[in-house]
Amino acid sequence: MTKYYDFKTEINQKELQEVATFLREGKLVIFPTETVYGVGANALNPKAVDDIFKAKGRANDNPLIVHIADFDTLKDIVETPTEMEQTLIDAFMPGPFTLILPKKDCIPDNVSAGLNTVGIRMPEDKIAHELIKAAHTPIAAPSANLSSRPSGTKVSDIKDEFDGKVSAIIDGGETKIGIESTVVKVIDQVPTILRPGKITPEDIKEVVGVVQIDEHIFKKATGAVESPGMKYKHYAPNAECLLVYSDDEQTQIDLVNKNIKDNTIVIGFKEHQDKIHASEFYVHGSIHNYDEISHNIFTLLREVDRKKPDFIIIEGVKKEGLGIAIMNRLIRSTSYHYIEK
Ligand code: AMP
Ligand code: MG
Repeated sequence: MTKYYDFKTEINQKELQEVATFLREGKLVIFPTETVYGVGANALNPKAVDDIFKAKGRANDNPLIVHIADFDTLKDIVETPTEMEQTLIDAFMPGPFTLILPKKDCIPDNVSAGLNTVGIRMPEDKIAHELIKAAHTPIAAPSANLSSRPSGTKVSDIKDEFDGKVSAIIDGGETKIGIESTVVKVIDQVPTILRPGKITPEDIKEVVGVVQIDEHIFKKATGAVESPGMKYKHYAPNAECLLVYSDDEQTQIDLVNKNIKDNTIVIGFKEHQDKIHASEFYVHGSIHNYDEISHNIFTLLREVDRKKPDFIIIEGVKKEGLGIAIMNRLIRSTSYHYIEK
């Protein structure tokens, strides 16, 4: 049975202790973070970790990120960071940032999917922070969604996928950022973005002077990749989807209009609502506000999918700043059905 906890307006300390106990006992708990909801388990308990893979239907060669609440825990679970890694930690933790580091033996092999590295994140969301602190153990937590589906950014979207499979679901309202953390690994002294997020390449460059972006971010990955998650179908609605982008606004509008078929829903900019001739149009945000789009996109994909359209067309954004992360997710959501002119 799944117990529901409402922490939207405040954290109930007694209930928080109850949920932390579930985690210590090896049970699964869904909790909010500033990026997306996570389905968490005690990262030091391989049986509990295995239950995460089962609940999500996740491939077991796709490693999990370990969430911590303080830097003492970091010392216990990974080798001493290099100077550059430490600079990144100081700059971006806590926050929507995951750093891949060599793991210590206490991290079970199923957390890291057999790799000798593990992804570490320190959420800044208050509920996530207090829960991990109260659990007194690091928490392995991938996004709370069935594998291949859009990540969960509010409880009503993911309830049906996990009801009865987890011991607790904490409702903290809609997550602030709406897309997952930036995943970085320092390779040959260069911070390499394996998955883009709210922390942008410019943010990283400003702190350490160099940055590179893994070539698979906008491409289909085959064979060996640095971040195993790149290989999988991801963030996808059930309907057929198309992503459309042009640097020229009018060209983009024309491209969308040209591709509309019967029973098509368009997800696009509020500024284009009257210029795009779809029977149904959903706004993902303003052309000038990518934070709004990242906040809305996953829940919107789910909402539109529930209408069972034959076709979904999504307006893309410029691959700059947070736009890189938005386009990385949308290209995968649409299974690489992408037109750029
Ligand atoms: P999620 O489980 O949805 O939060 O996604 C976690 C992402 O981080 C996936 O794309 C994983 O492949 C990636 N990841 C986690 N651990 C590692 C690691 N040790 N090395 C490379 N990528 C990792
Ligand atoms: Mg995920």
